[in-house]
Amino acid sequence: MKKTKIDWTKQTWNLVTGCTKHSAGCANCYALVIAERLKAMGNAKYANGFKLTLHPKALDEPYTWKKHRKVFVCSMSDPFHKDVPKDFIDKILKVIEDNPQHTFQMLTKRAGEMVAYFKDRDVPSNLWVGVTVENADVKHRIDCLREVATPKRFLSIEPLLGELGDLDLTGINWIIVGGESGKNARPMAETWVLDIKRQADANGIPFFFKQWGAWGRDGVKRSVKANGKLLQGKIVQNMPKDNITE
Ligand code: SF4
Repeated sequence: MKKTKIDWTKQTWNLVTGCTKHSAGCANCYALVIAERLKAMGNAKYANGFKLTLHPKALDEPYTWKKHRKVFVCSMSDPFHKDVPKDFIDKILKVIEDNPQHTFQMLTKRAGEMVAYFKDRDVPSNLWVGVTVENADVKHRIDCLREVATPKRFLSIEPLLGELGDLDLTGINWIIVGGESGKNARPMAETWVLDIKRQADANGIPFFFKQWGAWGRDGVKRSVKANGKLLQGKIVQNMPKDNITE
């Protein structure tokens, strides 16, 4: 377990580390940068760097957490990567089911694999499932997500790399949008963000603007902190109501 700087969750739980690039959103993968840095620092969990590695010992961690926590599962990988065995995902879901006092969040870019996995399995009532939608080429992931019977379906539109256009938001419960950070970050236009927010508002879906990233609203590159997280002068960080008391 690790406290996290990711604004839309409280902590991470990393059963899998390492991954391989899958789509445009992966070009400047933050998990890769962090994994290589931790490996260089001698962190035992990251001895394999960004090579996909399972961490079964971490499966026991949630049993020791007493108070409610919101937990991002596998923030350093993609849980539906082809090299993550199905029976390992089964074990993760069993732990989630055994710990109904916590809310777990799982996010993937491998939406087809996720649908195939859940075809003959139930989603635990305390697991929110989401897909990343970084550009219009991968909007089909939203249709995949709709096929999964999770209590909360969320979209992580991060890093937002282009205009998404019209979205079918039927059955979607939460939308997170953010710009890219890092030295090779790609800029995000305010109009792209506002167009998504307009559609979220029209559908009554909580909208969470995480940050501008390395490029500001004015198209100038500076630090992520300096660019901040104001959208039209306000913090807009709405979340769906949790079904578990916080
Ligand atoms: S799927 Fe996620 S963890 Fe894997 S390479 Fe892409 S951005 Fe990185």
